[in-house]
Amino acid sequence: MEAFAFHNPTQILFGNARIEELGGILKNDGIRKCHLIAGGGSLRENGAYERIQTSLKAAGIELTETWGVQANPTLDKVKEIVEQLQNSGSEAIIAAGGSSVIDTAKAAAAGCFLKDPWNAFTEKEKIEKALPIYTVLTLSATGSEMNGNAVITNTQSRQKWGMFSPLLYPKLSIIDPTLQSTLPFKQTANGAMDAIAHILEFYFADEKALSTLAIDDALLRTIVEMTDRLHYNAQDIVARGNLAWSATLALNGLSGVGMNGGDWGCHGIEHAFSALHPEIAHGEGLGVIFPAWIEYLSEKTPSQFLRWARCVWNEDTVALAVRRFRNKLHDWGLAGSLRELGIKQNELSTLLDMIMIQPTIGGVFKLNKEEVRSLLMLAF
Ligand SMILES: [Zn+2]
Repeated sequence: MEAFAFHNPTQILFGNARIEELGGILKNDGIRKCHLIAGGGSLRENGAYERIQTSLKAAGIELTETWGVQANPTLDKVKEIVEQLQNSGSEAIIAAGGSSVIDTAKAAAAGCFLKDPWNAFTEKEKIEKALPIYTVLTLSATGSEMNGNAVITNTQSRQKWGMFSPLLYPKLSIIDPTLQSTLPFKQTANGAMDAIAHILEFYFADEKALSTLAIDDALLRTIVEMTDRLHYNAQDIVARGNLAWSATLALNGLSGVGMNGGDWGCHGIEHAFSALHPEIAHGEGLGVIFPAWIEYLSEKTPSQFLRWARCVWNEDTVALAVRRFRNKLHDWGLAGSLRELGIKQNELSTLLDMIMIQPTIGGVFKLNKEEVRSLLMLAF
């Protein structure tokens, strides 16, 4: 097992009726003025907005708001929020929504103290300060509620880039699974696939981290099983809670302990899909590229992939496990190829250029341009 550091400072409040505690916690933290960031109207429909308002009001905390953060969140929205934060003099951010909202909050929390928020992504400026972030999660997927990562799209330069800062871990995240029981199944499945992908980005990186691999096997099996249960019954609150917590654990550091930071090649590739076509959901794009990536690499280094086939899918060959994986995603209604995602053959060379901003992609399995071209053809 490789040397590692592990530290996660985010406090989690899990379960229903936890939103009611938010105002008191903010007050205890000495916060008097807060800015709420949210997406569309679902926060009002599921009652969370009213509950947040009531809790803050009872604690005497002033609230300003920005709505309208969309999937594949943009730098333009981040800049708009930075301006509002500076004008309102807010001392903290409440990010109430899914990962698009939380990632936007992180970029804005750091962006307040930078010349340009995009500099955090290009690393032109170092993040040395950020507003504290409190989240109310409404869609489990990226684990953003318990990590310091954010992914934002710069629509002008067509770059969908990620960044990390230890200053961007939320101070507190409220995970109330009942808030997710009205989600369309497609969104649940996209979130589940994203969580699966986060674990898989680490999974093949080191065969010696056996304790981490054992945790990852259990998380992968649980995510598949809980998503199947929710496909059958969206109101299954036990499945909803277990899926939510598994998705958090998939990217809060635990699933990657001793794994050299993971590979992240598939994420780099998928970010190009949704930068070119913002209508492509991140999880669905990953569901196309990951089975193809496993198929492609398992021919070169089969032993690392055999464990996954056996422990997660109970199959004796990688080929059979990949087939089970693809069939499962198909059952959940996710696209099975780049073509089904709406990507055209004449866009492949543009995609390839967007993916290959470095000579190779992937931290562990370093693929060059020709290899990525073959992989895209396999996924097409
Ligand atoms: Zn992801």
